Amino acid sequence: MSTEVKLEDIVSLAKRRGFIYQGSDVYGGLSGTWDYGPLGVALKRNIMNLWWQTFVENRDDMYGVDAAILMNQKVWQASGHVDTFADPMVECHKCNARFREDHLDYSKPCANCGERDSFGSPKMFNMMFKTNVGPVDDEASISYLRPETAQGIFTNYKNVVDSFYPDLPFGIAQAGKAFRNEISPRDFVFRSREFEQMEVEYFVHPDKWEEAFEQWRTDIAAFLDQLGLPAEMVEEVEVPENDRAHYSKRTIDYEFAFPHGKDELLGLAYRGSFDLDNIQRVSGRNMEYAVKGSNEKFVPHVIEPSFGVERALMAVLTSAYRTDEQNGEQRIYLALPEHLAPVKYAVSPLLKNKPELVEKAREVYRELKKKYGAVMWDDNGNIGKRYRRQDEIGTPHCVVIDFNTLEDGTVTMRERDTTEQKRTTPEEI
Ligand code: ATP
Repeated sequence: MSTEVKLEDIVSLAKRRGFIYQGSDVYGGLSGTWDYGPLGVALKRNIMNLWWQTFVENRDDMYGVDAAILMNQKVWQASGHVDTFADPMVECHKCNARFREDHLDYSKPCANCGERDSFGSPKMFNMMFKTNVGPVDDEASISYLRPETAQGIFTNYKNVVDSFYPDLPFGIAQAGKAFRNEISPRDFVFRSREFEQMEVEYFVHPDKWEEAFEQWRTDIAAFLDQLGLPAEMVEEVEVPENDRAHYSKRTIDYEFAFPHGKDELLGLAYRGSFDLDNIQRVSGRNMEYAVKGSNEKFVPHVIEPSFGVERALMAVLTSAYRTDEQNGEQRIYLALPEHLAPVKYAVSPLLKNKPELVEKAREVYRELKKKYGAVMWDDNGNIGKRYRRQDEIGTPHCVVIDFNTLEDGTVTMRERDTTEQKRTTPEEI
C-alpha cells in the first residue's frame, strides 16, 4: 500500500469520477473557479455538516448564523479590508502576467512567457471583488462580495446577544461562500477565487482568552481526526510576533502536508477586541457585554478558528488516496472515513441480464436507501469493474445479489480497504 500522492493524481480522479470540474469548463474555464459534481458536492456537504454538528449542534455555547454575502460597504471600511486587504503584485513587462510577489522567484524567468528580468516593481492589489448594489453606479452603491465569513458574524454579535443573552464564553458560527480576487489561483482548489469558509468567533472575557485558546487547540485536533487526517501530516506553526496582526497576541497556522507541499489548512487567531472595537467606532453602536448580576461591562475579546472547506476537502482526499495491487493489477482507492464517504453502500445484481437477480437487488437497494440515503445502484460493466469504480470514489461497502441470495437470502458484502468478502443478510446490514 502506498500513500504518496501527486497533485495530478487527485485532480485526475476528481474529474474522472465526478467530484470536481473546472468552472465554466465548456467555455474554456474561468480561472480560480471550480464546480462540484455529484460526488464532490456530497463529500463537501459531509465535511461541512460534520463541522456544523461538531461545533454548533453538539455544543450549548454556540449560535449559528447565515448572513448575506453582500454587506454595507462600511463593514469593509471599518474592518480595514478596503485599505489593507491587498497582496503585493508584480507584473511581467513582456506578457503582462501578474504574480504575487511573495510567491515569485526574481532569479527565474517569467512562468508565463519565459522572458528573463522582465518583472516590474510591486504594486498593492486589493483582492475584494467590487460591485454595485442597485441601478446607480456611484460611490454610495459600492459593495463587495465578502472576502471572509467572519464579518457577517461580528455584525450580528449584538443581535445574538440581544435575542439570547448568552453567558460568556460563547461563540457564533457561520459557514458559506467567500470571494478573493487572488492574483494567481493555483494548486487545484487550494487557492481559489470563490471558496467556502467555516468560521467561529468565540467571545471571551479579556482575562480568559488563553484558556479558551488552548481549548480550541484541543477541539481542532479532535475535528481533524474526525476528517481522517493523520496527526503527523498536520503541523501547528506559531506565527511569530512580527508576522502577526498588531492586535493579535497569538496566532497558529495549521499546516498540512498537501501534495504541492506544506501549506496553510486553517488558522487559529486571538484577535483581542479589534473587530468589535472597529464596529463600535464606525457604527456608533455600543458593543459592550454586560455581565449578568454585576456591574462589569467590557467589549469581549475573540478567538477565531477559521477553516477553509476546499483546503479541508483537499486534505481529506490527500489522506485517503491509496494504491495497492490486487490480482497483479494496480488499484486506486479512497480510504475515506465512512461518515464522509459520498456513497456508503453500492448495490448490484451479479448479472444484469437475469431478471430474478435484478428484481431482488432492487428490493435490497430500496431497503438500504431508505435506511442510509447515500446508497448507489451500480450494474455497469462486470463485477470487477464495479468494485474498481466504487473503490475510487471511496464507497466502504459493496453489496452483491447472486443466485445464493434467491435460495437463502444472503448477499455478498465486499469491503473497500481489505477487499474481503463475506456473506451476510440485508437485515443485518
Ligand atoms: P493564505 O495565506 O494561504 O492566502 P490566508 O492566511 O489569507 O491564506 P485567512 O484569511 O486566514 O487565509 O482565511 C482563513 C482560511 O480560509 C484559510 O486558512 C484557508 O483555509 C481559507 N482560504 C483563504 N483563502 C483561500 C483561497 N483563496 N482558496 C481557498 N481557501 C482559502
